[in-house]
Amino acid sequence: MEMQILFNRIKDVYVRMSRAAMKADRSPDEVQLIAVTKTVEAGLIREAVACGLRVFGESKVQEAKNKITGGEVSAMSERLSWHLIGHLQKNKVRDAVQLFDLIHSVDSVELADEIDRQAERIEKVQRVLVQVKLSEEETKHGLAENVLFPVLERIRGKKHVTAEGLMTIPPFLDDLNSVRPYFIRLRELRDSAAAEGFSLPELSMGMSHDFEAAIEEGATMVRVGTAIFGERGLQ
Ligand SMILES: *Cc1c(COP(=O)(O)O)cnc(C)c1O
Repeated sequence: MEMQILFNRIKDVYVRMSRAAMKADRSPDEVQLIAVTKTVEAGLIREAVACGLRVFGESKVQEAKNKITGGEVSAMSERLSWHLIGHLQKNKVRDAVQLFDLIHSVDSVELADEIDRQAERIEKVQRVLVQVKLSEEETKHGLAENVLFPVLERIRGKKHVTAEGLMTIPPFLDDLNSVRPYFIRLRELRDSAAAEGFSLPELSMGMSHDFEAAIEEGATMVRVGTAIFGERGLQ
């Protein structure tokens, strides 16, 4: 991809993020852009780094490992931060704690237990978000709302995992006004968790087609792929 095109897309995303924040009386620097690089080749990631991006989201551990530890991107890895945004299987946790600064997708006690165990091995405190499932779709991972607090309680007792916020993936809806209630619900859950003594400042919500609505409703991290790198498989 032409560097100028990539730069303009990134600039456009930042402008839209800033506008959405200001519209909601928030400071633009309360919202972090996670550039989603699943299926994006290393060469294009290098260009994104040249454009100023430093924080990247991957949805599969193996794909991320190949990029981060092998080949073109690895030389720059020190300067970059990688987040896992996709579902994490227990047998991949050992690699995941090595690779990722933040895991957005903790969705069970068993997974939190395993992250704690593997993070302890490498003397790390793994930062995580708890993924909440707010819609009925069969395909989506995430904890049901009614077990969120017990799971947070369980994580609070662990030395090598720290929960910093919540994440959700709402259903894909063209009408943004139908998506907004999911973002509002995640913020409300965060606020009621705070009332129970759980400090969860981060809200990871919003993708290419709905990140402005997410920011207006309180997102602190947006996960944006297509708006930066183009349609997956077609770039
Ligand atoms: C792919 C993906 C994104 C980015 O989606 P775009 O529509 O390309 O911006 C965000 N979050 C998760 C969990 C994803 O898997």
